[in-house]
Amino acid sequence: MGGVCGERLRKAAARTLGPMSIHEADKASTSGSLTTHSSGKPRILTGDTPTNTGLHLGHYVGSLENRLALQDQYDCYFLIANVHAFTTLAEKPEQIRANTIGIVKDWLAVGLDPERATFVLQSEIPAIAELTFFFAMLIPFNKVMRNPTLKTEIETKGLGETYPFGFPMYAVGQCADILAFRPDLVPVGEDQEAHIEMCRDVALKFNQLYCGVNNRTPPERHHLEGGVFPIPRAKIGRVARLVGIDGTNKMSKSLNNAIFLYDSAKDVQKKINKITTGRQSPTEPGDINNILMQYVDAFIASTDPARAAEIKRRYGAGDNLGDGHVKQELGEAINALIEPMRLRREKLETPAGEAMVLDVIARGVKKANVVAEETLALAKKAMRVEFAGRVVG
Ligand code: ATP
Ligand code: MG
Repeated sequence: MGGVCGERLRKAAARTLGPMSIHEADKASTSGSLTTHSSGKPRILTGDTPTNTGLHLGHYVGSLENRLALQDQYDCYFLIANVHAFTTLAEKPEQIRANTIGIVKDWLAVGLDPERATFVLQSEIPAIAELTFFFAMLIPFNKVMRNPTLKTEIETKGLGETYPFGFPMYAVGQCADILAFRPDLVPVGEDQEAHIEMCRDVALKFNQLYCGVNNRTPPERHHLEGGVFPIPRAKIGRVARLVGIDGTNKMSKSLNNAIFLYDSAKDVQKKINKITTGRQSPTEPGDINNILMQYVDAFIASTDPARAAEIKRRYGAGDNLGDGHVKQELGEAINALIEPMRLRREKLETPAGEAMVLDVIARGVKKANVVAEETLALAKKAMRVEFAGRVVG
């Protein structure tokens, strides 16, 4: 049944989209459990919200590392959620703009490559806003309000009772950010798992309601059976959730507990030195799961596993290894990791650097709108709301 509906949908999309897009829609729905598109590759969509001037170590281990590793194998779309930044910073538009540019600079500094990946600026992709409205009908209100990530954010960001309607709405918007690009994979930190789950629910429901996909069809077969949307999977980073330097359970742009990728070597060491473990002396057996040791796992074990194991053994045994010494080694390891990024970011802090960022955004928006408009056309056909098309003038 899904196949028949899918065929009807593809024919309908063919009338709307023209030959190039039919080809893509066809390939997307017939080529195995990973969706390959006209690029011949499956897709990735992920992104960051410009709530601060740049990215931090949590982003690196939670998502950026995976983006870097996968940007050749996948057709990658990296999104800056500047509309969603208004959910908490509506009164600071200039800051959101500066943060947006700062994040693109960090992406470039880390090694995300606009020649291989598409950088997407959310506010310039109207299809995302349209899909958000339709998707809002597919998610029960109470389910959104029970979303654990939103609940934690309301608490940790001190939003109290006064947050705008748009704040919980961003969770629905994020489903549209993702699904507008019909990706297979979404590389994110663990805090985003609940959002990806919601996104999967929306895609499943959409495909069942509007594309005739059977409700017993396994998620990985949805696009093969005529669903507009492949059901995307989260890909969680090497460190699922990096704790903040203040010991709170997540390093976060908005919580003043982050080591940023552009922090100076001195600032990195200063921030590391602020970590408190409660341990009194180098001979006191330490907790090998405390925040300091979690950072050793995250930033020393990755380059020198033997040294990390040695540190943890001696720390746990109280074998004359002080917190101060570990912090020094940790600071050096983190600085070695981010030094090249910091230097590349510094080079972008010029008018020419800014012009380059604006150009990268403009090129990305063009490419992204082609894909997002195709998705919207397919979705509107499936929902029987395709009439005159986007008639202007
Ligand atoms: P905010 O405090 O404004 O929510 P943030 O620091 O959480 O900012 P986001 O832009 O919301 O950053 O997240 C971007 C990506 O980085 C997401 O995939 C998220 O899961 C990941 N990420 C953010 N912080 C961490 C962390 N501490 N550990 C692992 N991944 C993280
Ligand atoms: Mg966040």
